[in-house]
Parts: sequence; structure tokens; C-alpha cells
Amino acid sequence: MHAAELCFRLKPRAKPTEEPTRAIHDFLWSLERNGQLVPDTTRIDVETRNGCRVFALIPESTSLRRSRFDRHVHEVLQRLEDCGIDPPAIRVLGRAPDSDPVCACMRSTSLILRTDFLSGELPLTCGQCRGIVPFYRFDPTSECATYEDIIFWMYQYRAFDSIWIASRGGEKLAYRELTRHDSELTKDGLEVCGAIEKHTRRPVYYYLLRFHGRFVAAERKRPCPSCGGAWLLKRRWHGKYDFRCRRCRLVSNIACEAV
Ligand SMILES: [Zn+2]
Ligand SMILES: [Zn+2]
Repeated sequence: MHAAELCFRLKPRAKPTEEPTRAIHDFLWSLERNGQLVPDTTRIDVETRNGCRVFALIPESTSLRRSRFDRHVHEVLQRLEDCGIDPPAIRVLGRAPDSDPVCACMRSTSLILRTDFLSGELPLTCGQCRGIVPFYRFDPTSECATYEDIIFWMYQYRAFDSIWIASRGGEKLAYRELTRHDSELTKDGLEVCGAIEKHTRRPVYYYLLRFHGRFVAAERKRPCPSCGGAWLLKRRWHGKYDFRCRRCRLVSNIACEAV
């Protein structure tokens, strides 16, 4: 990830057709759903004498190139223009500390959809190099030609993960959503995987959390929860996954608390 500054300036004597901050907000959201800003990370907006400056995280140093703008971004750019705001001046400030590397493969062999409540990274990693995969490397996946289906699933997953980690009201429900192959959350996630797979023509695996479990030996005998087939791997994949079902596109691990 990199940090970038977007500087919005209101032209002198402009007669905005709508609230300028509203148009700026929508512009940032259009970048986010187009994969050009990292969603669900801290963004800092600073008011200036004639506009505002926004500090945000982007997947790569080249993420905000104008050539990547989609129809929605251009539409909001026009609204900014109507408000008397020039297209923002964009400055890439540098690499974000401790951020994961971006996938460097010419063509990944597979992808993994996974996130958690602490993660500030994009939720898609390369099955080959483990790098983060920016969304715009493949065609938009949602019905409205954006990546918002991935983003909404990610928000939902992080919300359930937070509820489970907090161990208070809703803990059991959240754990069920995170760990069951047939929960609404998992179904949504698998749908997202399918949409990505359609465009990348590469298997996209969904990570199924597994925390509770008593014995490692019993865990190893666990079949794929969806098809009932064998899915134990000979060797841990990426140091994280003990199970992988190619048919059901699921990956998981031996229960974290098993002994
Ligand atoms: Zn890669
Ligand atoms: Zn299976």
C-alpha cells in the first residue's frame, strides 16, 4: 500500500450546484468501489482555505492514474466540475509502513479471499506469491460494474469477526457465520469468489475460519464440510492452510485451539 494526498480546490467565485463536500465524498467512494483506494482504512480529510486535502491509502503507487478511472469516477468528476472544483491534484507520498507486498506474478495460479477485523489490506491474495491483488487487475465483478460486492462482503466479514472477538452479545451467531460453509456470510463470499473467478479464470478460494476444536488428530480427519470429500493437504499451504477443497473452493486450517 501507498499513501496519497488528493488536493481539492474550489475555484474563486464558484457557484456550486450542490454541497462541495458531498461531491468530494462521492468522488472518493467512486474511487474506492473502482479499486483505486483501499477501503475501510483511516482516511484523513483536512479543510483548507479554499477546499480540502485528503490523505488516503492506495493499493499501489500507480493506482490513482486517470487512465484507470471508470464511468462512475468520470461522472462524479463532472459533478465536481459543476461545483467549481478542479480535478484533484494527486501526490503519492510513499509506501505505507508494514504493508504487505503487492502480487508480482504475470498470472496468478489461484487467488484467496480472506480478511479479518484487524486487517487494513485488500482482502484478496495471490495463491502463488501471497501478494495482495488489487481489484482493477480484473474486470469489475458487481452488477453495477464496480468492485463493491467484494467491498460489502469485506465490511460484513470484519463486522462479524469483531463481534466474535469481542466475546459478548452475538458471539455465537458471529462464529457460526464465520465458520459454517452454508452461512449467509460464506454464501456471499463464495458468490464473490465466483464472480472474480469468472473474470480471472483462476480458482478463487474462500477462507473458512476454524478456531474451536479439541484434538489435532480428530481435526486432520475432518472432511470438507461442503462436499464431504478429503481435503487435508500433505503440507501446509502458505503456512496457513491445512485444508483445501478444489471442488468447493474452500480453504481452512486445523482448529487453532486443538492440542
Ligand atoms: Zn502473485
Ligand atoms: Zn468440498
